[in-house]
Amino acid sequence: MINADPQELAKFSDLAHRWWDPDSEFRPLHQINPLRLDWIDSIAPVAGRQVLDVGCGGGILAEAMAHRGARVLGIDLASKPLKVAMLHAMESGCTDVDYREVSAEALAAEATARYDLVTCMEMLEHVPDPASVVRACATLVKPAGWVFFSTINRNPKSFLFAIIGAEYVLDLLPRGTHEYAKFIRPSELARWCRDAGLEVEHTRGMTYNPLTKRYALGADTGVNYLLACRRT
Ligand code: SAH
Repeated sequence: MINADPQELAKFSDLAHRWWDPDSEFRPLHQINPLRLDWIDSIAPVAGRQVLDVGCGGGILAEAMAHRGARVLGIDLASKPLKVAMLHAMESGCTDVDYREVSAEALAAEATARYDLVTCMEMLEHVPDPASVVRACATLVKPAGWVFFSTINRNPKSFLFAIIGAEYVLDLLPRGTHEYAKFIRPSELARWCRDAGLEVEHTRGMTYNPLTKRYALGADTGVNYLLACRRT
């Protein structure tokens, strides 16, 4: 059975035509992109690396990594976002990124230890069995290579900020984008990583200030957070 929720994929496909509009539903992804890209690049410089972006959507991060000199494959199971990603890469003359409609698990069954770096951002909270995606990422990365995850914590504060605040009060995201029960505590994600042979080396929180309308990286992992893991 395929590890995907068809309703989740349809949600992203329905909005795909607006993926690169920085004032659309995808505004948060556009705003956080430079922050996460700089963080990734500071830990594992992407230039000249073979990079896999799992759940790449319209390619905001995948293309940005290619622009920094990485050779990137973006994968997703929603076909419309992938088409948008391909078109955008073509239009921006980005030749170092490819896209494929394939699951991380299926790609891992094709080849092991193929990538220097694997990124899987804002995706695990949309998947029925996130631990299976973590295992696939661990299989796909080379020994001593890096895997980066970002997702949303599960606690009363994240319910208030990520669902009530972002979807109902501030209208940053469409209602129904996120489901509380699918949020993942850092300790849970860290356990799946360790079980898959990944060592968690760095953890970072991402916060949003509604007054300045800006995101920032910091120590507060209460809502959005990122992990940098290394294959042992
Ligand atoms: N990682 C991108 C997009 C995040 S949106 C970024 O951060 O910019 C979440 C993405 O996960 C969507 O493109 C959605 O289609 C994808 N997704 C959801 N379930 C998936 C699955 N089971 N396998 C692959 N991609 C999935």
